[in-house]
Formats: sequence, C-alpha cells, structure tokens
Amino acid sequence: MKDKKKKKEICKWDRDEIESSIDFLLEQARNANYACKKCGRVAETKALLCKPLSENKA
Ligand SMILES: [Zn+2]
Repeated sequence: MKDKKKKKEICKWDRDEIESSIDFLLEQARNANYACKKCGRVAETKALLCKPLSENKA
C-alpha cells in the first residue's frame, strides 16, 4: 500500500486511485473547506479540486 500524499486533483482520480487512498479521501471530506462546482467532490485544500468553490467565497 502506498502512503504518498496525492497531489493530483481528486477530480481526476480513477477508481483504483480512489480505492487505494480511501482514508485520505475520507479525511478530506471530514475537513473539507472546498467543493468542486464541476464534480461535486470536496477537499480540505483547493488544489485537490478542478473547479474549487469555498463556502465563504461562493
Ligand atoms: Zn472537479
């Protein structure tokens, strides 16, 4: 199992990447500050999303 932090946008992950990094994704969801307006995914940092929107600046 890899424990490298992903730097690629979550939006572009394929199913294998999602499955192998599910703990990371759940942590992102718990700490989410941003949502992707295109994909509906959420993340703690906007760099992980392709079209980030923050709750405060939407
Ligand atoms: Zn996206």
